[in-house]
Amino acid sequence: MNVPLLDLKAQYASLKDEMMPIISDVMDSQYLINGPAVKDLEAKVNEYCGTAAAIGVSSGTDALIVSLMSLGVGEDLPACRTGASCPGPAEVITTPYTFFATAGSIWRVGARPVFVDIDPVTFNMAPAQIEAAVTENTKAIMPVHLFGQCADMDPILDVAGKHNLAVIEDAAQAIGATYKGKPAGSLGTTGCFSFFPSKNLGGLGDGGMVVTQDADLGEKLRQCRNHGSKPKYFHKWVGGNFRLDTIQAAGLIVKLKYLDSWHEGRRANAATYDKLFAEVDEVTTPVIAEHNQSIYNQYVIRAARRDELQAHLKDKGVGHAIYYPLSLHEQECFAGLGYKRGDFPASEAAAAETLALPVYPEMTGEQLQYVVDQVKAFYAC
Ligand SMILES: *Cc1c(COP(=O)(O)O)cnc(C)c1O
Repeated sequence: MNVPLLDLKAQYASLKDEMMPIISDVMDSQYLINGPAVKDLEAKVNEYCGTAAAIGVSSGTDALIVSLMSLGVGEDLPACRTGASCPGPAEVITTPYTFFATAGSIWRVGARPVFVDIDPVTFNMAPAQIEAAVTENTKAIMPVHLFGQCADMDPILDVAGKHNLAVIEDAAQAIGATYKGKPAGSLGTTGCFSFFPSKNLGGLGDGGMVVTQDADLGEKLRQCRNHGSKPKYFHKWVGGNFRLDTIQAAGLIVKLKYLDSWHEGRRANAATYDKLFAEVDEVTTPVIAEHNQSIYNQYVIRAARRDELQAHLKDKGVGHAIYYPLSLHEQECFAGLGYKRGDFPASEAAAAETLALPVYPEMTGEQLQYVVDQVKAFYAC
């Protein structure tokens, strides 16, 4: 048997008849960027998240960049560029155990990513470590809701409130997840979603969305998406081309209807894994905090002899991935930040010990059992 990590073809097969006429309509209209479907999707995501504004953008990465730019993080850069006194780089506190775009976006606006370690149980940023990392240059905190589970937001928002910092939620993996009953993305200053095809709500290519509870900030985010222009051809500040294609929005509107049922499917698969792996001492299953509801964008186990298990699963046709093999503080491009191995032991251990298994909602019971059997077989010998 072969079980892929994710089977997008299975999902597409279930949607094709509904999707094709809608795509065809967009093509007939030739309104290809920021068309009516973009506004429609924004309204729907806004409602889904219970926020004040939602702004469709070109990717999850760009959602982070648009957030940072609209909040003025990195604005010291223009000051340096125009010869005014240069106060030193703005700092944004984040986690080293995440997809590269989290810290990459901070770097790209001219700010400095400042890392704090993770909670080894949930893999999310450890809130207790944030305050010690705050300096007079700190402008924002960027927590990540990793694998579909929200970071512990209340203590993060407390520190942010105390030091007057923005909170940018990297909710790329967490649309529809909740924290104490509140939707991911609605908790911070902005929330950033990705519609990369492997996310729970995946587009027909790249896409993303920023949500916010602040309607005025929403207006600024909207301008930033299109070169900071308002009215057209007049620019009070510099944004970029961060626009969303109409065809992406049209496809996402179709998929959004099924999102909650897909979340349910993933949760059911996760619950089955949890039960079946309970007797395997070498496997630690994901721990979801009591106040959280995860959307299981990934089902990530901590596994003894991880690399050998990975090779075994590859042999047996079981899809898997390592998210993420090298913490961001150890990436070559960030060497100049001065971090070294050993700085964030929980993050480094996670990078060495974790493995993602297939959890997509279209998985059959047979496939799920096959994955479990292969893991068990590895540890039995
Ligand atoms: C996917 C992802 C992003 C980036 O999203 P793109 O749409 O691929 O640009 C950012 N942060 C995290 C945590 C992600 O998983």
